[in-house]
Parts: sequence; structure tokens; C-alpha cells
Amino acid sequence: MRTSIATVSLSGSLTEKLTAASRAGFDGVEIFENDLLASPLTPEEIRARCADLGLTIDLYQPMRDVEALPPQEFARALRRARHKFELMRRLGAGTVLVCSSVSPHAVDDDALAAEQLGALADLAQESGIRVAYEALAWGRHVSTYDHAWRIVEAAGHPALGTCLDSFHILSRGSDPKGIEDIPGEKIFFLQLADAPLLAMDVLQWSRHYRCFPGQGGFDVAGLLRHVLRTGYDGPLSLEVFNDVFRQSEAGPTAVDAQRSLRVLQETVGLTAPPAPVVPSGFAFAELVTPDAEPVAALLAALGFARTARHRGKPVDLWQRGEARILVNTGPAERRDGTRLAAVGLESPDPEGAARRAEALLAPVLPRRRGPGDAPLEAVAAPDGTELFFCATRRPGLPDWRADFEDTASASDADDGWRVDHLSLTQPWHQFDEAALFHRSVLGLRPQESVDVADPYGLLRSRAVTNDDGSVRIVLTVGAAPTDDTAHAQHIALATDDVVAAARRFRAAGGRLLPIPANYYDDLAARYEFADGELETYRDLGILYDRDDHGTFRHCYTRTVGRVFLELLQRDGGYRGYGAANAPVRLAAQHAVRGFTGG
Ligand code: MG
Ligand code: MG
Repeated sequence: MRTSIATVSLSGSLTEKLTAASRAGFDGVEIFENDLLASPLTPEEIRARCADLGLTIDLYQPMRDVEALPPQEFARALRRARHKFELMRRLGAGTVLVCSSVSPHAVDDDALAAEQLGALADLAQESGIRVAYEALAWGRHVSTYDHAWRIVEAAGHPALGTCLDSFHILSRGSDPKGIEDIPGEKIFFLQLADAPLLAMDVLQWSRHYRCFPGQGGFDVAGLLRHVLRTGYDGPLSLEVFNDVFRQSEAGPTAVDAQRSLRVLQETVGLTAPPAPVVPSGFAFAELVTPDAEPVAALLAALGFARTARHRGKPVDLWQRGEARILVNTGPAERRDGTRLAAVGLESPDPEGAARRAEALLAPVLPRRRGPGDAPLEAVAAPDGTELFFCATRRPGLPDWRADFEDTASASDADDGWRVDHLSLTQPWHQFDEAALFHRSVLGLRPQESVDVADPYGLLRSRAVTNDDGSVRIVLTVGAAPTDDTAHAQHIALATDDVVAAARRFRAAGGRLLPIPANYYDDLAARYEFADGELETYRDLGILYDRDDHGTFRHCYTRTVGRVFLELLQRDGGYRGYGAANAPVRLAAQHAVRGFTGG
């Protein structure tokens, strides 16, 4: 179906918004009146600009407080309408959105509302314009879609139809099934928006927290299915008021918006892009660093061996068991501090995974390869992390390991070492998009979002995983975007014996994050431990958690650049990430920074 977006959903000048919408692949736009009023372009110039960009103007909006008014007020509304219709004629816009009245003058009289909307439609029809009447969730007398439809039906005017807006319908908890009672040709327009499930004033909720379908908690796909059964064939249009999008760059936001509509159309069966190829494990985590020495020292103390070196680039492969970490010291432009820059995901079908990503507008990266390098498929996640789709040691598929020359054999003592999860910090404005990206592009399943108290702010964290837990990525965002901890990333390494791993690390000169004694006193109150067990945890700085399935023990290294490592042991099918311990860990990390100044 045709896709459209309201200019209010994007940041910038009208010209910037139109350009971003066009580049992201939208077919049309809703012009929001304020964007037109603030533009130096004449309506004719805006019309020409849209035509040049391949955009139709699908809707002009909004017109407010028109219906169920006393005669004098209604005469004034018609006068306004005449001006708007003339403007729309110059603009080449064929449909106007009329929101249900919030005016204190409006009366609770459906017959009067139908009569006056009919008179408005008469006037519109003279200019070849259609009127789409929408129930605002906070409308004074009309606040539900079925009520708005009853009024439109009573007016019985060919130039009057209804506009359905998923936010207004779902925020009120209305049953969208009734949409199927509306003839498709009387649905003049469909606006789509999702929102997180919040208990708050509906007007504030709508103005500040709308998001793109799939980013929030509404069943937008379910609503769309009802709309499609009516035979509606107008555009799918996004109307998203969101404080964050208002200040984010228009280009990427428009791409995220278009991706959300592609996913939505796939969900309801309108399109069939290449199916997601769910990754089946971590092939590697890649650190980029200006100075390999501190990272190498950390890995060596953990018992990793430098097993191979890239044939053409300054990249070392460090390995312990199935845990593989690449340490990349070049090229210079990427060396802005130590960070987790790339993730190798084991993929059953690397090419298929890349095709899926491309169909959903994930930026496909130019293959970073020299002559003779394995052709690796890679895309960029919303936070800029490079995701490589890998096939490690699988016959018939290019193997990234082939680019490396062995320098030593991997340690035998692998103790089940593997990457358990990666924690990737998202730019603060991209948290919800990151979850949608990992779900739709990679086919990972988002878990519940968790709030974690940091001494200097609040972190939000949400894990995305595959079914067997062999791929776990924790997306986090800090409420204090300037704070260092808000930018920290980590690699969590699973072992079968975290106590032995911690002892070995310390004996090799490694320093574990010290945890306050109060934490262990509290643990003693909450759980019973075997003799000496708690003392061991206290001594090493091991944190402890338990869920219905099993236990979790974990500890942390000091931070190098933006990156620290976590050692952990999951027993009995424990599913979480030790979120209950995160505030203590964050405070301990701040404390260390306070003592050392870096
Ligand atoms: Mg709307
Ligand atoms: Mg962790």
C-alpha cells in the first residue's frame, strides 16, 4: 500500500522534512498546518517541491472546532474553512482532516454536528476537497471512532468521510472490531501511531509519547487488519507526535518510520520480504582501541590466548573456549577510545540475513575486505554497531576465520567459556527503535524493559534474545546522556566456574570491581548459603541472584575506555541478567572512577 507520513512526525524545516520523507521511500505526506505557516515557500512552491520529490500531498491538517456550534460560531468556522480550502487548492491537497470539537461552545447534539459537517462538505466539494472527520480521544462530545462514524453516516454526504487514528482508538481501549462496520470507501484516511502503555492524561500521552508502530504496546497490526477488511485502499500514514523525534535528525527518523511500516505490512500479510534469519550464536565481539596493551593485559589475565592475527589488518583474535574477541588497533579514524564496535553473529544463512536487513532498510555496510578476504555480510545497527553475519567453520560458506593466520593454539582449559551476552548502549533517542530493529531485522525476541537506578540517573535496559539464549544482546540507555556510565558497553563471558575464573584473574594481576560490604550483609539476610560461600563472594566481589529457574553469579573487571567485561555463571536455567544487582554495580563503578579519576 502507499505510505505517507505527517510532517509533524519529523524534525526540521518543512523542506528538510519533505526531503527526509522522500529519501526514506514514502509516497506521500500529511502537511501539518504549522509547518506550512512557518515555511518561506508559497503553497505553489511547496506543491512543486513535493512533486519534484515524488511525494503526493495526501492530507492537510488539522481543522478544529467546526461542528455542533451555535449559528454565529459556525458561520465563523465556515469563513475559516473558505480560506483553508483556497489554500489547499493552491497546495494541491485533496483531503482535509477535521478533528472532533473541543470548543466550549460545542453542544452535545449529533444531528446538529451532522448538519454542519454536511454544510462544510458542501463547501469543500465546490473546491474538489474531501473532509475526513476524526474523533479525538479527548473530544468534547465526540471521542470515539464509532461515534464519529455515526455522525458521518447521518450526514450522508459524498464529500464527508471519517479518518481513523490508531492512537485515538486504542488509547481509549475501544474495540477496533467495529471498524469493519464502516464501508471502506467512507474511511477517507488512516493514521497510524503506536505508544507505550502508560497510565496518564490521554492528551499528554498523545502529544508527547506516540511512536512508530511496533515500538510501543498497542496492537496496531490488529487494528490494521480490521481496516483492511473494509476494503480501505488509501495510504498507511504515520502521525506521530513525539518529543524525542522532534529533536532527532529527520533523515534517520524517516527511515525508522518507513521500516516500521514495512514490518507492519509484513505482519498483516500485505507484503512478504525475505524472512528473518535468526542468529544462532556469537561468532565474535570486536573491540576497537587506540592502544591494544590494556585490553591485551585484561584478556591475558582472564586466560584468553592470542590465537590468530588478521592477514591484512592490525586485528588480533583472542580466544578462550568458544569466546572470541577481536582486538582491532586500526585504522586511525576508528580509534576514538576503546569500544565495542562490531559483533559477529553466527547465522544459518548469512546472505539471507543480509537480504532481510536490506529489505528493512538497515544500512548494508561496504564489505571491509582486502584481496583474498572472506566476503562477510554486514549491516549497521541503529547505534552504529557493525553486525557481521558469519558462518564459522561451516563447509561451503565463507569463513571469517580464513582471513586469520593462526599464531597459537587455543587454551585447552576452556571450562565452557563463551560470550553470554553483549551490552550495547544506545543513543538516548534510539532506544525504542533499537528494540524494533533487533526484533524485525534479526528476528530476536525483545524481553521486558527494565528501569535500573544509577546514583546519577536512571538507566533503561531491554534484552533481545534468540530462543535458546545463545544470542543475548542487552540494549541500554542512560537518562543522563553526558555521563560516562551511560556510554559503557560490556562483554559478558559465561564460564562453568565463575569462582575459579575470578581467582585466576586476580592471581594473574587482574582487578575486579570491589563491591561494598553492605551488599553482602543484605545477601546474607535474603538467602542461605553454604559455609564459606558468602565469604568467597565477598572476597572476590561476586554478585548473586536467583530466579524461579536457577542461580546467577557474576563479577566485573575494571573499565577500559568504554568497555568492561563481566564474568558469570548461570546455573539451573537462570534467565535474567542480574538486574537486581545492577544499581550496586553502577554505584561501584562510579566509586572506582571517583577514586582513580579515570
Ligand atoms: Mg490523528
Ligand atoms: Mg551483564
